[in-house]
Amino acid sequence: MLQTRLCSLPSGSALRRYKPSVPNSSCYTRHYARFNSTQADIQASRVQVELSQTRKPRPDPATLSFGKVFTDHMLTIPWKASSGWGAPQIHPYRPFTLDPSVGVFHYAQCLFEGLKAYRDETGKVTLFRPDMNMKRMNTSAQRIALPAFNADEVIELMKQLIRLDKDWIPNVPGYSLYIRPTMIGCQPAIGISPPGEALLFVICSPVGPYYPDGFKPVALYGTTEYSRAAPGGIGAYKLGANYAPGLVAQKEAAKKGYVQNLWLYGPEHYVTEVGTMNAFAVFKQPDGTIEIATPPLDGMILPGVTRDSVLNIARDHVAGKYKVADLPDKLVVSERQMTMREVKEAAQSGNLVEFFGTGTAAVISPVDRIGYLGEDIHIPTGPDGMGPISRPIWQQLVGIQTGTIEHPWSVVVM
Ligand SMILES: *Cc1c(COP(=O)(O)O)cnc(C)c1O
Repeated sequence: MLQTRLCSLPSGSALRRYKPSVPNSSCYTRHYARFNSTQADIQASRVQVELSQTRKPRPDPATLSFGKVFTDHMLTIPWKASSGWGAPQIHPYRPFTLDPSVGVFHYAQCLFEGLKAYRDETGKVTLFRPDMNMKRMNTSAQRIALPAFNADEVIELMKQLIRLDKDWIPNVPGYSLYIRPTMIGCQPAIGISPPGEALLFVICSPVGPYYPDGFKPVALYGTTEYSRAAPGGIGAYKLGANYAPGLVAQKEAAKKGYVQNLWLYGPEHYVTEVGTMNAFAVFKQPDGTIEIATPPLDGMILPGVTRDSVLNIARDHVAGKYKVADLPDKLVVSERQMTMREVKEAAQSGNLVEFFGTGTAAVISPVDRIGYLGEDIHIPTGPDGMGPISRPIWQQLVGIQTGTIEHPWSVVVM
């Protein structure tokens, strides 16, 4: 076993702790009481690196399917209630050995994140807004009594991991490395309690473009039989427990000929999310103004990084800070509730300009049809599958992500 220290970082002394944004929640209070100053936070400078003795064959980009192949190395960081975070380890990708009684197997003590690393033609590797993912990961951890951690240190460790496995990012436009940070509760005990042991780990998977042959608009099934989230629940957190219940609903939608669920909430059938993406609708107002609207972060909506980026790009354009080519000037950007009735009436009167989902995997996913209470609502899409508002925003966003447009959101790895 080869144990080396990749580098020692000057940042080890400045331990900053993430400050949770919901100090009143009981989960937070209970958790925080156990996280006192004698416990260690994550320190990238303590990393131990065990290099893989063998290198796996790189997959053929042409036949790559999402999330099935993983790189040579991974990152793990153990946590114990008594001592805090242990030394981070970068080591060969391999299975875990876990006691069958650990909380992740019984009580869904798990959360995850998803972000991408991009490589440009010059070999420069960048991450897109990793601070947002780490902030959300801490928020998720807090919601299920898993430990908080120093976000900057984990970003530094992820960079080290990516540098080691950079050759796994296919050198083909549209391809990237999908980074999957995860945290699980792994105290060996079947009593239900905040875990006394946890593990943060990061794995990486080379991925291709979501739409290799151009945008393919999807058909959604307006789902009223199941709820994805409820007030006071966990819909706003990226917890594993949110996703298993969606699979049956997705299967049923697929049987009816739709690709994804459009999750509707309450008797008003409020639009919430599209499968595992945030939902956007674009309306034409009576005076010709274009409104780009998405549901507000009311506790049921997952605060997507792509959602936030789309809103910011549109708002900067409206404010004149950064003009996006081909985006209309008379644009209103709204975070507001919308009912299915409003969407349906706008479609019938010709005032629904477009409807799309946003998320890291697909970036923007146009929608051309929504099945709702036995009828199909048809939504216009352009010849390339996109609409007139999402197309320029998508171009701007992908330009920033892939480094053709310089922007502080793009964080250099190497
Ligand atoms: C991850 C996710 C999103 C999108 O978030 P991004 O940060 O943009 O990838 C939206 N909704 C749900 C339910 C999600 O899990």
